[in-house]
Amino acid sequence: MIKLILNKIPRGTLQRIAGWAMPVAGLWYTIGRVKNNGVECPLCGARYRRFMPYGYVEVRRNALCPRCLALERHRMLWLWLSRETDLLQATDPQKLGQQKPDLLQSGSTKKMLHIAPEVCLSRKLEKILPPENYITADLESPLARVRLDVQSIPFADGTFDVVMCNHVLEHVADDRLAMRELHRVTRAGGWGVLLSPVDETRAATFEDDTITSRRERTRLFGQYDHRRIYGRDYADRLRESGWQVSEIDYLAPLPPAERKKFALRPEILYVVRKI
Ligand SMILES: [Zn+2]
Repeated sequence: MIKLILNKIPRGTLQRIAGWAMPVAGLWYTIGRVKNNGVECPLCGARYRRFMPYGYVEVRRNALCPRCLALERHRMLWLWLSRETDLLQATDPQKLGQQKPDLLQSGSTKKMLHIAPEVCLSRKLEKILPPENYITADLESPLARVRLDVQSIPFADGTFDVVMCNHVLEHVADDRLAMRELHRVTRAGGWGVLLSPVDETRAATFEDDTITSRRERTRLFGQYDHRRIYGRDYADRLRESGWQVSEIDYLAPLPPAERKKFALRPEILYVVRKI
């Protein structure tokens, strides 16, 4: 059912209806929940027996938060952002002094560009960052404030302290150009999170622009509108575009009880820095 919906209904329509449709569907997952034996979403705080299933090709159980639509990777990213960076913290100088000393610093203005904003993340970020400092952007998404093509970003060099662009580059015709554009609009010392689906069993990225049929793209690239499937050379491609890259396995240091409670799964966080 979830597979059929994801593959047949256009993404823009899904984005429009998901905000109210999913919490209704999620009522089922609250029935009979057990207080200490269920799951909890670190983004919205909702607790369920388990999360909803999700997936375009293979459906994963216990994946999607019905209230805020966070998937496993969003929950992990949120934990990382809140614990390892200062992005979500107050800019009050007194409070800054109380922070963990090794937090990834976002600068005094924390001006952020969020491409293809995931609703679960953008709802949180727009409450934390002032509107002039938090720019959401996309080619099509009705959730974004600015219309733009990530291959030609209409902002000056070094505009942003932080850039986030997740699960976009595998859709883009010239992904290297997009990576360079994201690098260009980030200030020196700034950082970003650029996640893409990576097939760890592949040494090299596989792409072939002559493959355009939905069925073949799904079979080869994992989704009907993907143009490539990245291999273990994904980080190298980011480095060639100017970034310093950290591949973070943030699941590894978390206690098993936390992995279970937040229903996380292994996925490398690609954290980039401009030096
Ligand atoms: Zn949630």
